[in-house]
Amino acid sequence: MAVTPDTTTRPAPTTAPETAPTPLEPPLPVFPGEHPNEAPRLTPVEFQPGKALYKQILPGVMQVPADLVLAASRKSSLWPMTFGLACCAIEMIATYMAHYDLDRFGIVPWPSPRQSDVMIVAGTVTKKMAPAVKLLYEQMPNPKWVISMGACATNGGPYTRYDRVLQGVDKVIPVDVYVPGCPPRPEALIDSFIALQELIMEERGVIGR
Ligand code: SF4
Repeated sequence: MAVTPDTTTRPAPTTAPETAPTPLEPPLPVFPGEHPNEAPRLTPVEFQPGKALYKQILPGVMQVPADLVLAASRKSSLWPMTFGLACCAIEMIATYMAHYDLDRFGIVPWPSPRQSDVMIVAGTVTKKMAPAVKLLYEQMPNPKWVISMGACATNGGPYTRYDRVLQGVDKVIPVDVYVPGCPPRPEALIDSFIALQELIMEERGVIGR
């Protein structure tokens, strides 16, 4: 008797042998062994609610308003225009010299109104000269400040009864700081610059608006 093969039975399907999952790439070392001093700086911080995030991740960063930075830059780099009208200008020139050294305040004399931001009116302002002083002031870019140096520039000084002398330069341009004296000492002019620097910091919120 012939035996027919059993076609209903099929060989069990062969499956691919199970392999272990490939391990992930090892993470890069956070703290290279050759730079052990970097470890504290690179240690992730733990966020503390209630404290600004940037202060936690950048503890050395200081946050200040932009107008404060601008005002500090302006007050630390005042460029007075170099011109003088009478004997007070000699004291102004002496203040620029090495003995008083205005450069240490960032104050640099500049021989053009185009880049200057401070005008020192040093001397007698005659009515003939007043239009030229006003024109120089208008040629200066904003923001700009004026120091009236000495009695003549402030109120005519000893020339109170002289018709040809302007009784104060503030008749033609705005003045921010007045320096008394005839003539003022270089220390007085330095003091006026310090007062002007304080004024710039006080009005920082309104300049440029
Ligand atoms: S205030 Fe006195 S020193 Fe100055 S310009 Fe007048 S007269 Fe000269």
